[in-house]
Amino acid sequence: MPSDSPFQIDIPATDLLTYLFPTSQTASDTPIWIDADDPSNALSPRQLLQWVKRLGAGLQGLGLKSQDVVMVYSHNHIFMPVAYLGIAGSGCIFSGCNPSYGVEETVYQLRDTECRAILVDPTLLDTLLKAAIKASFPRDRIFLFSDKDHIGIDGIRGWRSFLPPVSQTDSWTWKLMDATESRTTIAALNYSSGTTGVSKGVMISHQNIIANVEQSIFMRDLEQPYQPHNRPQERWLGFLPLYHAYGQLWSIAAAARTMSPCYFMRSFNYIKFLEHIQIHQITHIQTAPPVLVMLAKRPETDDYDLSSLQNVLCGAAPLSKELQNEVSVKLKLKVVQTWGMTELTCSCLHVPGGRDDRSGSVGYIDPNATIKLIDDEGHEVGPGERGEIHVKGPNVCLGYWKNDNATRETFDSEGFLKTGDIAIKDENGWHWIVDRKKELIKVKGFQVAPAELEALLLEHEHVADAAVCALQLLTDCVREHEEHPRAYVALKSEHRYSSSEWDIERWIGDRVAKHKQLTGGVVFIDEVPKSPSGKIQRKVLREWANNDAEYW
Ligand code: AMP
Repeated sequence: MPSDSPFQIDIPATDLLTYLFPTSQTASDTPIWIDADDPSNALSPRQLLQWVKRLGAGLQGLGLKSQDVVMVYSHNHIFMPVAYLGIAGSGCIFSGCNPSYGVEETVYQLRDTECRAILVDPTLLDTLLKAAIKASFPRDRIFLFSDKDHIGIDGIRGWRSFLPPVSQTDSWTWKLMDATESRTTIAALNYSSGTTGVSKGVMISHQNIIANVEQSIFMRDLEQPYQPHNRPQERWLGFLPLYHAYGQLWSIAAAARTMSPCYFMRSFNYIKFLEHIQIHQITHIQTAPPVLVMLAKRPETDDYDLSSLQNVLCGAAPLSKELQNEVSVKLKLKVVQTWGMTELTCSCLHVPGGRDDRSGSVGYIDPNATIKLIDDEGHEVGPGERGEIHVKGPNVCLGYWKNDNATRETFDSEGFLKTGDIAIKDENGWHWIVDRKKELIKVKGFQVAPAELEALLLEHEHVADAAVCALQLLTDCVREHEEHPRAYVALKSEHRYSSSEWDIERWIGDRVAKHKQLTGGVVFIDEVPKSPSGKIQRKVLREWANNDAEYW
């Protein structure tokens, strides 16, 4: 029998903006989105809503229609929530593009989303213009986007140029939705490779976001001595990238819902991160394992007063209980794990925020959701047995953008989302993530899709075939949690001696974002192992990589 969450909560059946800004908060002048480097640069809900209305009206003025996509290619700053909520509020769809992407990666997302307008960080304009030329995207639909006013560069206007003045938008209201519209209207297209293949647009509805905020806050507040909306003053640090579901959920939506001031970092820098915690007396962070490694191991940690920190929520990649406990003890705080994926809006398993959990568990199911663990033969398994997590619930995405095949393959016959993650649960419903069955590689919490690197390798004139998998190194006989993309490459016979492993590694390095580089190295082989139907035998690759890890 599938396990239902022991908790049921009410999930408001409305649009995202009505949910986040009930009248009492709409008028609030408390700064919520604050620039960590310059706290005078901040937005309160009242100010944010004014900008949201102007952006919503401005997009309609540009002729954008309901469910048109607007791509936002930017580092974090305090106007990112304006973009996210303004775009979704106008009935359009927000799609964040990773600011570390190069030209080809940006072209891919630009084409795949079929976006109608782009907001671009001025520092990324060069790359974007190259991508726009390749994708034949019109220049007059590109707008500079930052927290400053821009006069324009090379004929590209600032985003404020298409916004009507405040006086003309007072009466503008966002698209109000009933339960059905909220369930079926897409608010965000976040990119993920899911269980197989290349990156795909995950359709996240208004209802998905509302549900996942309510679920996450409920779990976070569980077993705490206070109740939602009556919590002591908190201060969060917003360094998770806002093109990703994890950053969007916490730094934008949950911050608005709980009225928790969130200090935004433009991008992650460890020393700045420590400084900001100390200066702004940060109480809560939402993060991924690499940051915990730094907190535990980097000597600079001891140079800062981090005593304001009370709670660290950690997800996005595997975290060992040893590291979790090391940070808990060293900083005298609670480290609670969560598990999820872009297709689940953000998360679906949580350790209650009030628990001082030391077991390495990712907790139990969020309210209103149901989970089954399924073995390789397709049978459901019970406590103590390994199985792939299948999920049903209000936070499960609508499917993949313009890709019905991928959508069909991702759901089982009962409508559960197949996640590709393997877990074990105990008698009390606590889960531990023990393996990953899908192709996905995670580098510092970021997605790397083997299929994307394989396709790129095949473009190299010396490469006959290639397969990519994760290499997990062994240090002191313990498997490191960090994963390194490794390529097994078969060269064309006439080019057997034309390229070295290093040449191929560098060639890839010049074409992809930093986290996708082949840091696990390139290994030449005679033939990529394939099944009779021509599918790469990923199990064999993993065995090779596991063996190689011992000698690497
Ligand atoms: P993303 O869609 O980028 O959020 O990546 C989701 C994937 O990250 C999951 O399917 C897991 O493979 C991995 N992941 C997320 N949270 C955890 C966790 N707490 N422990 C282990 N793996 C995780």
